[in-house]
Amino acid sequence: MSHSNITRRNVLKAAAAGAVGSWGMGVRATMATDTSSPVKILEPFHGAVLNHRHGKQTTDGLTIGVSGEARPGDRVTVNGVPCRVEGKRFDADVVLREHETDLVAVAEGTDGRQEDRIRVVWDRYSVPRYRFSIDDNSFFLRDIAQKNYASLFDCFYLKMLRDLNKKYGVKFTVNIFYTAADDAKFATAADFKLPQFPDRYKGEWRDNAHWLRLAFHAHDNLPDRPYEFATPEKLIADLDLVTAEIHRFAGEEAYAPPTVIHFGLTPHSAFKPLYNHGVRALSGYFVKYGSKWDVNYRWDDVHSEYVSRHNAWRDFQSGIVFSRISIVCNTVLLDHIAATLEPLAKDPNTAEIMDLFTHEQYFWPFYMNYLPDHPQRIETAIRWVTERGYKPVFFHEGFLGGGPMTA
Ligand SMILES: [Zn+2]
Repeated sequence: MSHSNITRRNVLKAAAAGAVGSWGMGVRATMATDTSSPVKILEPFHGAVLNHRHGKQTTDGLTIGVSGEARPGDRVTVNGVPCRVEGKRFDADVVLREHETDLVAVAEGTDGRQEDRIRVVWDRYSVPRYRFSIDDNSFFLRDIAQKNYASLFDCFYLKMLRDLNKKYGVKFTVNIFYTAADDAKFATAADFKLPQFPDRYKGEWRDNAHWLRLAFHAHDNLPDRPYEFATPEKLIADLDLVTAEIHRFAGEEAYAPPTVIHFGLTPHSAFKPLYNHGVRALSGYFVKYGSKWDVNYRWDDVHSEYVSRHNAWRDFQSGIVFSRISIVCNTVLLDHIAATLEPLAKDPNTAEIMDLFTHEQYFWPFYMNYLPDHPQRIETAIRWVTERGYKPVFFHEGFLGGGPMTA
């Protein structure tokens, strides 16, 4: 997909949503269609989330390189800064001083004045950080409800998470279903639903909420990809249902807004309703299977490819930041965990935030794909980031667990 196609698509989307932006996305579309060689900002990417690794940071600004193309011979500025121009290529150093900054490239010459405009985010208070998110949770809730334990941590699964918290300070976001069902391919009947979970552990949930949070993931494990083409109303109804249950049995302190929707697929019309329900970040694999990007919240090829190579990208229309999961522990062999994380830590675009991730079912011996070394896998990933100074965070707090959301 070409650059101008994306711009036109966004403009159409904005128009369809009645969202007349306070800044001129439309300007870019006009320039892109009206001239054979428009001025175009190529770097950074519109929606890029930039931190100290992307330039020179001082207390009051981040100096970044901005580059692009214009008609040869034009004088080009970016935010008033004169550019170095070589042929059609221009570049300049621009200081970002706000949480979000519009970058406006203006080219002037014999054919008049042209401009292009993008917006980037400065993650000003960014520090190296990691979060641990576990998807597809239901078995541990069923286990506790059925066994009627004296403590939540009599369940081996929560005890394991608590031991890891005590040892490493790791925080866990546990993304839950409304139902539990032993999902041999043919058996989908739920034998547990959240209303069956007692509220007598509320004190323990509250006491551990500083490191253990529950979030909505989906109504059920099956069928696969439940929200790919669902209406926003269906998704929000399921979110409300699970949220009400978490509040009932665990209390508000233990609740977190969702950061991963089952299969990482939702229609874009759901983004704004999700934002209005507290969602600020959504993580996915942003992986290419054959020629098709998947687990990517249905973003197009250009955006999926971008997020696949970066920690984060902001969709200004919804306000949601999309994040790429760094490792799926149940899919990576124990002795490959470090080799999976190492290259990410060397690339400035993926080094700042480690989004560690796995799925609950692989911890349970009755599960058909049980992984006996699953606890060792997640501990290896947690130890690896801890030893390299990454700080444990929740993504729903601040800007992906870093500084304030809109500093
Ligand atoms: Zn899932």
